[in-house]
Amino acid sequence: MIRPRIIVLGAGVSGLTTAATMALAGCDVVIYAAEGPAQTTSALAAAIWHPFYQAPDFVYLERARQTYATMRRLSADAASGVRMRVLTEYFQRDAGAPWWTECASDVERLAPAEVPSRFACAYRMNVPVADAAVYLRYLMTLFLDLGGRYVAQRVGDPASLLGDAEHVVNCCGYGSRPFGDSDLSLSRAIVLRAERDAAVSGCYIDDSDPQAPTYVIERNEDVVLGGTADPDLTSTVIDERQVEDIVSRCTRLCEGVAALRVVEVRLGFRPMRRVSRVACDAHHPRLLHNYGHGGGGFTLSWGCANEVLRLTGVASHN
Ligand SMILES: Cc1cc2nc3c(=O)[nH]c(=O)nc-3n(C[C@H](O)[C@H](O)[C@H](O)COP(=O)(O)OP(=O)(O)OC[C@H]3O[C@@H](n4cnc5c(N)ncnc54)[C@H](O)[C@@H]3O)c2cc1C
Repeated sequence: MIRPRIIVLGAGVSGLTTAATMALAGCDVVIYAAEGPAQTTSALAAAIWHPFYQAPDFVYLERARQTYATMRRLSADAASGVRMRVLTEYFQRDAGAPWWTECASDVERLAPAEVPSRFACAYRMNVPVADAAVYLRYLMTLFLDLGGRYVAQRVGDPASLLGDAEHVVNCCGYGSRPFGDSDLSLSRAIVLRAERDAAVSGCYIDDSDPQAPTYVIERNEDVVLGGTADPDLTSTVIDERQVEDIVSRCTRLCEGVAALRVVEVRLGFRPMRRVSRVACDAHHPRLLHNYGHGGGGFTLSWGCANEVLRLTGVASHN
């Protein structure tokens, strides 16, 4: 049987998940990436399944649902770096259970006595959380074990590779902008990594302020404290006041944070688009795109990879 030849551009969470999905479906897949997984935006992420900054959207919901199911399955394998964790999310307005909680398991509304008075309500549920670096390595190993190949190379024009493959899939994140997408922008993010401590267990989120999302994410190897969202800010200079503000907001959300030792300040850039681009190219139908996932690259990863698989017409392995 001739295996369809697929070229995937990018080795962040979108590229690796897409490449693994295509390889699992029996394709002959090669990844071309300018930077390896450890150097990507994906490696900086808190990597919790959560629809940050997302208005209700049916397509998003379906992709997030598929990702939740796959990451929950992967959490059974300790080597994946994925684990199901308890998320408590606080809301300043009570609009009932958020639209996306229908994907999550064990969702419960907290009793008023458990909710700090500055919030209107809170929900608790189980969600997948990944140690991003471990998870990316796991995806790469899965891909290579399936016979995939990896080439460290920047590509100037994705369409120029169409002669070498049935499909080329662009998963270059913000690197897609030079390919001509002016709808793609950046949102600068600062997160802190702290050493694990028994004082913090589980995850806590209050993302009611779009410019100052506050989150405490317990992972296997550290605790991530966030964050900031500064649209179009490209400076790499970190203002110490923003760092102090993150610690102060996180401590208000979860008092155990006061006991943590911050070991690293990280700066990253979310690849923002009004809507993620998961589609065939208008000029080159065999060129597909999968990027622009903003603050939800992990949350959408398996759903978007499944959509790419569907667009190629290759049968799924399921
Ligand atoms: C601080 C921070 C925290 C976050 N927290 C979360 C979270 O908790 N949950 C969540 O779901 N999302 C989170 N996100 C968002 C998430 O990290 C991104 O949506 C996701 O990483 C985007 O992944 P990607 O694979 O599309 O792009 P990237 O990770 O940027 O990877 C792009 C790849 O393309 C390659 N590339 C670029 N240009 C070229 C080229 N010309 N030729 C070849 N290769 C190229 C790069 O080298 C790289 O390998 C967070 C983001 C940040 C910054």
